[in-house]
Amino acid sequence: MDPERSVFLPATRDEALNRLSDFLEESAGKYADTRNHVLPGHGNVSRLSTATRTRLLLESEICEAAREKFSAGKIEKFEQEIWWRLYWKGWLELRPSIWTDYINDLSRLEWNDRATEVAAGRSGVAMMDHFAKELIETGYLHNHARMWWASFWIHIERLPWQLGADFFQRHLLDGDAASNTLSWRWVAGLQTRGKSYLVRRSNLERYVEADLLSANSQGLSRLENPSPAPGLDFEEHPNCGSVPLCEDPALLPAEGLGIWIHDEDLLLEKSPLAGLHPKALLAPRPRTLWEQHNYSDRKREFLTHALSDGTSRAGSHFDLVSGISNADDLGEALVTGAKENGLSAIVAMQPFTGPLTDELPRLTSALEKADVSLHLIRRDEDTEAMQRATAGFFGFWKKTSALRERLPL
Ligand SMILES: Cc1cc2nc3c(=O)[nH]c(=O)nc-3n(C[C@H](O)[C@H](O)[C@H](O)COP(=O)(O)OP(=O)(O)OC[C@H]3O[C@@H](n4cnc5c(N)ncnc54)[C@H](O)[C@@H]3O)c2cc1C
Repeated sequence: MDPERSVFLPATRDEALNRLSDFLEESAGKYADTRNHVLPGHGNVSRLSTATRTRLLLESEICEAAREKFSAGKIEKFEQEIWWRLYWKGWLELRPSIWTDYINDLSRLEWNDRATEVAAGRSGVAMMDHFAKELIETGYLHNHARMWWASFWIHIERLPWQLGADFFQRHLLDGDAASNTLSWRWVAGLQTRGKSYLVRRSNLERYVEADLLSANSQGLSRLENPSPAPGLDFEEHPNCGSVPLCEDPALLPAEGLGIWIHDEDLLLEKSPLAGLHPKALLAPRPRTLWEQHNYSDRKREFLTHALSDGTSRAGSHFDLVSGISNADDLGEALVTGAKENGLSAIVAMQPFTGPLTDELPRLTSALEKADVSLHLIRRDEDTEAMQRATAGFFGFWKKTSALRERLPL
């Protein structure tokens, strides 16, 4: 791939703040009109998704900075996109069986030769092959390219959506259990009644930059008359739970407390944990978990870099020595860290439904055996927003308006 096309994705808070400021200066004012276009370099969109995924930046910070520069009307489309992330997070948190079913499906589905060829960028439809290679080589794809490629996989190639979603999760640096799984389900037609998303040649002709498309025109005729893959019917998923309530940080043990830092929230200095007085910071890099999920080398490097950045900022904030460690087993790493530092309790930001949450039962049991308690805390605004993800996005947008006006808290 042409190196000019590689996309720089923020992996530290400073990089994310710079990207935000450049984006607001150069592209945000035109975002509503230009965001759907797939252009080399992707300068028309923010490329902040790695920052929101790891909470190098908070959604509320991004929206506040945007509002300082633009009127609410001018920036509404961008703000809505920012809030889609929490909407999906809440939607999955209220229906966690969708995630469990997806993980179970993955364990029984097999990659056949065709799936392997398509994911390697050898389908014969040059534009789709370009996107597959772009994903592997940069860890990023534009939203429209994600929609087209997912639709190509499901409705043209007729491959199982779960394997396509897994391919994305392995490579996307912003890979997020909720946004990814639920977007794939939406493309497949499982998520919204009567709707599946079909990739069409005419849509590519409208939105892909002309030179890029003409260099990748081979095989486009396969996208001329798409029809939905059979057997993918809308599934009713009433919300079956509530967003788990977290503990009050004020009630945490004052003595012998350590903080577990993980890649789902790397902004501890601006979190409900900021006022605590921990004895130690534990930042295990969960190598085995990443291996189990087949994360690409690029993704592991990115997550390590972001974890180091969050840990070093937390070290400065809490005035503690900090550094990341390698963990073959997360539970064991936390137990060892607790023993080495004389901890009787560990607190962390509560992970969202996804791979880390799946680890919690094993982790809690390992800690209990070592007489160490685990406490999970969530930002109030996350809980408040996610509880409102009961139906469609625009209802959620309405129901969160008072909350959004109050932010940043
Ligand atoms: C099949 C498929 C899989 C996807 N998988 C992921 C994923 O694993 N992780 C992920 O963060 N996004 C995912 N998305 C959503 C979206 O494509 C990316 O968030 C967006 O392309 C990131 O690029 P950006 O930061 O330049 O976006 P911008 O257009 O600049 O948007 C700003 C921010 O809004 C949020 N956002 C924008 N669109 C969406 C959306 N549709 N859903 C949720 N959040 C959104 C992101 O945090 C993004 O950084 C997926 C979409 C599809 C169709």
